[in-house]
Amino acid sequence: MAYAIRTFGDPVLKSQAAPVTDINGKVARLVDDMFVTLHESDSGLALAAPQIGVQKQIVVWDIDDEKHTIINPQIIESDGEWVYSEGCLSIPELYVDIMRPDRVLVRGLDLDGNEIEFEVNELMGRMFQHEIDHLNGVLMFDRMSPEQRKLALTEWRKMQESPEPGQSRHVPLP
Ligand code: ZN
Repeated sequence: MAYAIRTFGDPVLKSQAAPVTDINGKVARLVDDMFVTLHESDSGLALAAPQIGVQKQIVVWDIDDEKHTIINPQIIESDGEWVYSEGCLSIPELYVDIMRPDRVLVRGLDLDGNEIEFEVNELMGRMFQHEIDHLNGVLMFDRMSPEQRKLALTEWRKMQESPEPGQSRHVPLP
């Protein structure tokens, strides 16, 4: 079953998700539904549970038709710097150049409760940072300078006031 993706302004996106304490059948079904929801979106690479209104620390992603899940993920280490034009299913059609660490070491659990670890950079590093932010109630807007946030919010409001399908907006680094 596909869930509705919550969008910017929904308070659920600003709250802290709880760790999963019991990886049971309910969690497995939720993960299945997260993939259905992700696959119904046009542009999504990954999805965090709060984006469908569930305050649990679960992230799914799909690369080359392979489904991946991480539960209770934590960033253990990060270094470097990389600017990338980030998008978010909860802030549709807005792409913003954001500087973040390039490389991250992420640790969490798989659906069997085994510890898993990823050391990744560039796009994958960005994906983990963005999705783990969602688990902590942090959105792209919170990763911008005040100046850039103002520009991005102006673009976002323009799109809400006069939506034109298929038209995306890009906010560079100031
Ligand atoms: Zn997002």
